[in-house]
Amino acid sequence: MTTLKQLWSPWRMAYIANHRKVEGCVFCNEAALPDGPENLIVYRGRRAFVILNRYPYTSGHLMVVPFAHQPSLDLLDAETRAEMMELVTQSMRVLQAVYCPHGFNLGANIGEAAGAGIADHVHLHVVPRWSSDTNFMSSLGQTRVLPEELEQTWQRMTQAWDAPPPATPDECDEAIGM
Ligand SMILES: [Zn+2]
Repeated sequence: MTTLKQLWSPWRMAYIANHRKVEGCVFCNEAALPDGPENLIVYRGRRAFVILNRYPYTSGHLMVVPFAHQPSLDLLDAETRAEMMELVTQSMRVLQAVYCPHGFNLGANIGEAAGAGIADHVHLHVVPRWSSDTNFMSSLGQTRVLPEELEQTWQRMTQAWDAPPPATPDECDEAIGM
């Protein structure tokens, strides 16, 4: 069984290797851009947004991020925390409809000591999981997905966000490429 520490580490290492020279905060930078495959923002709420992880552990690995640049949940107001939890819930609904996962990991790394790749701006990870590790990215381990796959995921998630279709067994088979 993969522990949370193992789960987030590949993403963190890829992040460190590829983003060392980024100026400012990645999340604040992405939030300032128009939404599209460029910034990978799937949905903007009033106080928080949903963005695809550029270095996902599995297909559909999302993060829920407050617009406020704060390092910890306790520095956010209660409305923001509440909206983040609603966005986590909707993220799971939409991922369920689009990718038919068998489970989810939810988590946050607060502080660099806990493994946070972007410690200055708190965020919650939503990672869909499948019983068989042969599906999707889990079989590839720490390999970065192609930009084309990220763009496709962004399009599927954006289209399904407001009204996720019910996932039927046939569609699920198709979704997981069986
Ligand atoms: Zn920020």
